Amino acid sequence: MLQRETTRTVRISNLELGGNPKVYIQSMTNTHTKDVEATVKQIKQLTDAGCEIVRVAVLDMVDAQSLGEIKSKISIPLVADIHFDYRLALEAIRQGVDKIRLNPGNIPKREHVMEVVEACKAKNIPIRIGVNSGSLPNRMAPTAENMVATAKHHIDILESMGFYDIALSLKATDMKLMIEANRLAAKTFPYPLHLGVTEAGTAFSGAIKSAMGIGILLAEGIGNTIRVSLTDNPVLEIQAAKEILKNLGLKDKVPNLISCPTCGRIQYDMIDIAKRIEAYLLTINKTINVAIMGCAVNGPGEATHADIGIAGGKGEAILFRRGKIIKKIKESEVYDVLIEEINQFDDSVIEKDSQ
Ligand code: SF4
Repeated sequence: MLQRETTRTVRISNLELGGNPKVYIQSMTNTHTKDVEATVKQIKQLTDAGCEIVRVAVLDMVDAQSLGEIKSKISIPLVADIHFDYRLALEAIRQGVDKIRLNPGNIPKREHVMEVVEACKAKNIPIRIGVNSGSLPNRMAPTAENMVATAKHHIDILESMGFYDIALSLKATDMKLMIEANRLAAKTFPYPLHLGVTEAGTAFSGAIKSAMGIGILLAEGIGNTIRVSLTDNPVLEIQAAKEILKNLGLKDKVPNLISCPTCGRIQYDMIDIAKRIEAYLLTINKTINVAIMGCAVNGPGEATHADIGIAGGKGEAILFRRGKIIKKIKESEVYDVLIEEINQFDDSVIEKDSQ
């Protein structure tokens, strides 16, 4: 397990951010929050995919008044994303949300911020301050120092009111700036950090950008929650987040697919099988390495190191289980046999073996 920076512990419902090495996966719905049915449906899809904290946009009082019903129908902590209007924050808190995302420096009157802070204190609800490089105040240049200074401005307001249940995010579309800003924030503040490359793009390019930005920081021990922002179905954000965490050893019970890139030695339709198996693996929660290899050159080596593996041949493949050759199978049977092997694989036995 990677060494994690220790931060102040902040509770969100039944989750603890910062005081332990766990990194939580967060996403945001793209339904209209006042459409409770659609919002709950999407949150359930996100939860099934592995989302652990969900944020919804609160644009007006009808959105805010829908939060209680949404909360009563979901099983993960609910975060209300609010800009400028303290009354929406008060209503969201009344409705029972688990966290507020709000920048106190954007609320003009101190007594209004105080009302929100008192309401949060009374219900033990944390506040996330979110600084985006594209919307710094007073036309400040988007630099790491200015992002941290903006965060400090908001934090100072909350701390001056004796409020310390704070989480923080410093997001930028420029991955290098996002990394720099979060490194500086981790040195400057004791609060848990939520990581994300904002407006990262569509599924392919956005996942790569996010994996680099978020992954580099997590590898340095920085970050307590993550969001992969994608212009797509948010369920894909969860799949990408799980890949990032799994590859850094920060999440188990996530299957791992090992597959060769194929070359001129390939003699069966491996790409199709690998894609179908990958789609199936997304639906299960198991610590399992599945290798799908094209031929006998590198195939058996990788396949024997995986928990389940196949090395292809001409119209057939060799099946491996825990390093041992099990049998030859016909190409037409490969998918079904792999699914059966994956379903029967008991990952607790591996954990016992490695102790
Ligand atoms: S495993 Fe075989 S088919 Fe796949 S890339 Fe390597 S040599 Fe080519």
